[in-house]
Amino acid sequence: MRTKILLDEEDIPKRWYNVGADLPTPLDPPLNPATRKPLQPQDLEIIFPKSLIRQEASTERWIDIPEEVRDIYRLWRPTPLFRAFKLESALKTPARIYYKYEGVSPAGSHKPNTAVPQAYYNMVEGIERIATETGAGQWGSALSLATCLFDMECTVYMVRASYDQKPYRRSMMRTWGAECIPSPSDRTESGRRFLKEYPNTSGSLGMAISEAVEDAAKHENTNYALGSVLNHVLLHQTVEGLELKKQFEIADDFPDFIFGCVGGGSNFPGMCFPYIPDKLKDHKEMRMVACEPTACPTLTKGLYAYDFGDTAMLTPLLKMHTLGHDFVPPGIHAGGLRYHGDAPLLCNLVNDGLIEARAFHQNEVFKAATTFARSEGIIPAPEAAHAIKATIDEALKCKESGETKTLMLSLSGHGHFDLSAYDAYFDGLLIDYEYPAELVRQSLAKLPQI
Ligand SMILES: *Cc1c(COP(=O)(O)O)cnc(C)c1O
Repeated sequence: MRTKILLDEEDIPKRWYNVGADLPTPLDPPLNPATRKPLQPQDLEIIFPKSLIRQEASTERWIDIPEEVRDIYRLWRPTPLFRAFKLESALKTPARIYYKYEGVSPAGSHKPNTAVPQAYYNMVEGIERIATETGAGQWGSALSLATCLFDMECTVYMVRASYDQKPYRRSMMRTWGAECIPSPSDRTESGRRFLKEYPNTSGSLGMAISEAVEDAAKHENTNYALGSVLNHVLLHQTVEGLELKKQFEIADDFPDFIFGCVGGGSNFPGMCFPYIPDKLKDHKEMRMVACEPTACPTLTKGLYAYDFGDTAMLTPLLKMHTLGHDFVPPGIHAGGLRYHGDAPLLCNLVNDGLIEARAFHQNEVFKAATTFARSEGIIPAPEAAHAIKATIDEALKCKESGETKTLMLSLSGHGHFDLSAYDAYFDGLLIDYEYPAELVRQSLAKLPQI
């Protein structure tokens, strides 16, 4: 049995899998925020290319991956599937643990899997520049890479707090030729308004989204791109799971569990959605577990309801698990997991009981990350470490019961830009935070009435 299960470049999928074709319960449509009626494709054309709008609403099971996109995927795909022999012996578990590592992409995470096709479709429709927001900096760097490879411009509104605290993500974006602006900025009307109202603000994802959308809406040659949550993003991420199925065939094994962390919900659905038809048909026992922080417990404590995607209440209303659009998560160190909502496709399947969710505290998550780094070598992104924690828990259960289950972990990225968070953990400075039920109730009281 090999440690790494590798595929050839020809094994990079030729089509993405759209789980929208196989949902037991149809997806509730996104609503126009003004009329509260189902959104029309034209409503989105001011900021998105037509091809992505079509993918967003598509219920076709398979969608061709353009050859130009596969050609760029070749730079790091197929990604390796590892058998975690060393972690298994460290835990003394009879379970077989596997992880698929997306940290081998140039940006260090799964996010280029969607950044590349998004840049491509915009380029084909004549768009010259893409504006976006970034919180922790991972999405901003992925989109900077993708636009650079298609000779496009990129403007990234980066939440002021991370702009100051994570200078190296910013350096990456500059290296790939993007312009990175701390948000709120004086570039946009909404930015100037935020600055006037809150002169000392350290920014928020909600504010940065408003700035990027405004920039895209006001410039003919500019569109907007989102790194998670939307259907077309999850579609693009299925390259992960489609490769994974081939790799498990080579390993002559089948996952009993798939674990993945959820911020907006893209790396985890990308890994497990291609198994949804298997689960619906033959392998009813297979379990898919979404892992999130107790400080931002969207799937475990949120309500399944229509809500806005941003704080300024400008985006379409999406049916999703939400903590409320004005929910302000505490400053935990897994920056990529601090979103108040989650992808509608993922929430639909959670609501139908096909996918389950668990929440974890930061200290236990960093402990699991350290165990992983000290056995497998890779220093994981704090986001991905939530899935490691869940995997280790399950492996220890197997040790007690003596069961030889197959556990599959989505390792969404490396933690090379998060080492100050590791230092905070080693120095005992991390605070475990359970978001108070009362505050969740207050935020949820402000949901739009549909
Ligand atoms: C952004 C990010 C996440 C969270 O986003 P999802 O859309 O839920 O996948 C998780 N891990 C890494 C490494 C990220 O960069």
